[in-house]
Parts: sequence; C-alpha cells; structure tokens
Amino acid sequence: MSSNNDKITNKHTVWHDPTVFRADREALNKHKSAIVWFTGLSAAGKSTLAHALEDKLHKRSIHTFVLDGDNIRQGLCKDLGFSDADREENIRRIGEVSKLLLDAGVFVMTAFISPFKKDRKIARDLVTHGDFIEIYCKASLETCEKRDPKGLYKKARAGEIPEFTGISSPYEEPESPELVIETDKKDVEQCVAQVINYLEEKKII
Ligand code: ADP
Repeated sequence: MSSNNDKITNKHTVWHDPTVFRADREALNKHKSAIVWFTGLSAAGKSTLAHALEDKLHKRSIHTFVLDGDNIRQGLCKDLGFSDADREENIRRIGEVSKLLLDAGVFVMTAFISPFKKDRKIARDLVTHGDFIEIYCKASLETCEKRDPKGLYKKARAGEIPEFTGISSPYEEPESPELVIETDKKDVEQCVAQVINYLEEKKII
C-alpha cells in the first residue's frame, strides 16, 4: 500500500466533474455541512459528545452522521491495527470519508482518539479552512482511567493491550484546536451546549 503503488494505479484516472455540487446540496438541505472532529484520550468523552450533539442537531432538522472510532474499526478499517502507520492510515481514511460526507451536504462528527498532530493536520488539510472544527475533549489521564467505560485502561495496565494511548503510546495535545472542552469539569449537557454555542457564534448552524 505504498504511495508509489497508489501513483502507479491512479496514473490513468481522470476526475469526472459533477453537475450537482456541495452548495446545491446545502441549499436543498437548508443548512451548511461541516466536520466536527473530536479528539482526546480514550474515555475523554468523544463518542458521548458526538452522539449527544448529533441528537440536538437532528432535532433541528440537520442531516448528520457520526463516524465513531470503534464502529469504523469493525468495518472500513478492520484491516488496520494500532501501530503508528496503521493509526495514520486509519485517520487518513476517516479524513477522506468525512470529506465525502461534507461534499454530500452532511454535518459530520468524528470520534477518534487521533493521537498524532500530523495525522489530524492531514485530515484538516483535505478540506477548506473553516470546514474542519477540531474539538479537544480534555480530561486528565487519571479521570479517563477512573471512568474506563470499556475496561480498556485496566487491560492496558495489565499489558493485554499494547500501544494504548496514554499508557504505552503517546497522545499529542492539539496546539490550536477550534474548541477545548474540559469534560472532567463540566457535565455532558454543558459540554454539548459549549459546542452548540460555538457553532451558532460562527454561524455554522
Ligand atoms: P471516548 O469516545 O472519548 O473514548 P466515551 O464517550 O466512550 O469516550 O466515554 C466517556 C465516558 O465518560 C462515558 O461513560 C460518559 O458518560 C462519561 N462522561 C462523564 N462526563 C462526561 C462529559 N462531560 N462529557 C463526555 N463524557 C462524560
């Protein structure tokens, strides 16, 4: 799966221009599309907030979709593990799928640890400035480990899960995310309200 091979197999492809564009779909939907990219440690609250946000947006007649880490790893990315290279490929695919959904006029939310800055930047750079809203779900490792809703930290500490973010694999904090949500200081309702406020302020919704 080297990039050289990609270039060779893609050499004779020619982009086919559509006649219906994102702006047409947005007009039909009567709302903008965007990518809200949640990042943070396991158990920081990414999935919880992505789905709670989706619930609120859906009630406002916004077409939404959540790309959720564990779900995607059971399908689209089931051939990938957790090495640095596989994590990079995982995020690249999610970035590309998010971009397709963005063009489809959908309001996309992603919930992936996405621990590496350079991979998040790859996803960000796929789309136009302003379409990618990076939200850092910030909670201390101690809090996340205490929550441990899936028992993963326990397994990682017991050495049963290698390359576990925060324990045996690094998490690189975002330097300038669009929003930081301190999920260990606010409850879910308050966190979702913070996102909604941001989206309204920026006139995204
Ligand atoms: P992640 O997707 O980041 O791995 P999850 O959303 O699966 O995390 O789990 C987060 C856990 O923390 C859930 O059990 C959730 O109920 C709990 N939690 C407590 N407070 C918050 C909050 N403010 N925001 C999000 N989740 C919270």
